[in-house]
Amino acid sequence: MTNQRIPLIAGNWKMNLDHQQAIALVQKLAWSLKDANHDYKSAEVVVFPPFTDLRSIQTLIDADKLELGLGAQDLSKFDSGAYTGEISGAFLKKLDVKYVLVGHSERRQYHNETDEVIQAKTAAAFRHGLVPIICVGETLEQLENEGQSAVPIRQTLAALAGHEKLGDFVIAYEPVWAIGTGKVATAEEAASVAGKLRAAISEAFGSELAAATRILYGGSVKAVNVAGFLRSPEVDGVLVGGASLDAEEFSGIARFQKHLAL
Ligand code: PEP
Repeated sequence: MTNQRIPLIAGNWKMNLDHQQAIALVQKLAWSLKDANHDYKSAEVVVFPPFTDLRSIQTLIDADKLELGLGAQDLSKFDSGAYTGEISGAFLKKLDVKYVLVGHSERRQYHNETDEVIQAKTAAAFRHGLVPIICVGETLEQLENEGQSAVPIRQTLAALAGHEKLGDFVIAYEPVWAIGTGKVATAEEAASVAGKLRAAISEAFGSELAAATRILYGGSVKAVNVAGFLRSPEVDGVLVGGASLDAEEFSGIARFQKHLAL
């Protein structure tokens, strides 16, 4: 692991928890991490609540001077205008949102988001100074037909293509067959795909950028299995769905000290 790649522990709440429940969870999470003397410089912890919770969580983070980070689950590829229901990156930035998920498999699957849309959303994140967490991963069918790394590499390069200048970004490798299913990629599989993604980024954009890029694993991560993933020098954090809705469980994941495992 290079020093620049501070492990990132990201909790994607999906469409769960209203703003009052969100406040309760963040308070519990912050207490649990404080209790354990969590060092946020050794592992960044970021929550991704639904849009309607963002303002409440921003206010809480501000008032209680929490070191937790704030992320959003999606953004519009447009900046403003007649796009009913869409959320601009500019609005997210105003709420102190730092990260935004782009191309989560549930967006690809249920909202027909193509590689072109995801590239445009990545561009929108760069325009507004947000860090996109670009989610990539193969379905079971693609795994059988193309193996484990071809699809994530293709999706990564498509999202990063055609930008005048790349801003900061993070890649999350999330095999679709492992999301919310309880099926987990092995630590070796996650490390191998992360290594191949880094090699592809190096080939396309240079070794310096590749060495600085954080690559996360996501898919049924829990406190009991996180160690295996983070032990690999190629895996720089985790994107957690279901387990991030339980403060104690998510805190257990976040408290894993990557530097002690290497
Ligand atoms: C996710 O939603 O990105 C995810 C990895 O979900 P889960 O941890 O529930 O598999």
